[in-house]
Amino acid sequence: MVTLPIQAVFFDVYNTLLKLNPAPADANDRWRQLKKHLNLESLPDLARFQEANEIVIARHHVRARTIGIGYPEIYWPQVVKLAWPVTTGLSPAALDDFLFAHARLVHSTTLNDGAANLLGELRGRKIPVGIVSNAQPYTLRELEEGLKKQGLSMDCFRPEICFWSFESGFSKPDPHVFSWLEGRLRRFGIQCSEALIVGDRLDNDILPAQSQGFQTWMTAESGAHSPANGTGTLLDLSKTLATLGMLPQKNIR
Ligand SMILES: [Mg+2]
Repeated sequence: MVTLPIQAVFFDVYNTLLKLNPAPADANDRWRQLKKHLNLESLPDLARFQEANEIVIARHHVRARTIGIGYPEIYWPQVVKLAWPVTTGLSPAALDDFLFAHARLVHSTTLNDGAANLLGELRGRKIPVGIVSNAQPYTLRELEEGLKKQGLSMDCFRPEICFWSFESGFSKPDPHVFSWLEGRLRRFGIQCSEALIVGDRLDNDILPAQSQGFQTWMTAESGAHSPANGTGTLLDLSKTLATLGMLPQKNIR
């Protein structure tokens, strides 16, 4: 259930602001072209590339857990450099471009229905909007690209209330993520009970946010709208906020 006042809103990214779509059908061909373009032809196919990365990730997670990090997060560029030393020859910007191009071969993303409208309305109301995302650097580029297609930019978000797990070394559903958000909200004089967390996963987003005292909205397929339970699409959330008098009704499509 969403109740006023809502003074800040945090969005999860994948399957919330961004729709995750399958890998392109020609991913393997494009991978070969990408490797050729960057003189990385010694890298194997996509599947074997990922297998070696997974070994580095597993090693990282074991090490992190031994020092008490319950939900570790990796830094993807570092993982790839450790797994594939040939990539250490790329400049940081070239590595970033390479990993963004690689991510687009694993999945594609588009801004979710209703996201642009909702972000625009929140901005118009001067509601601080943040992010709470298990993410990697390419996530920011995917989001930026999705926003740009709708005439928006990353200016929709206040950087000081954006949690990107790769910057922190830990990830949702670690309760430290949500206590970090609580601490960041203090500078705005906003309490958890006045902030809304919007996400698609009960285990990663909704339950840990509620445990910390946040209001929540769980994104769901259209047809599963239940304002009383705080569940529905982003369009449903816009309508719910409009019903509460927080957003103008006329702009909700
Ligand atoms: Mg998600």
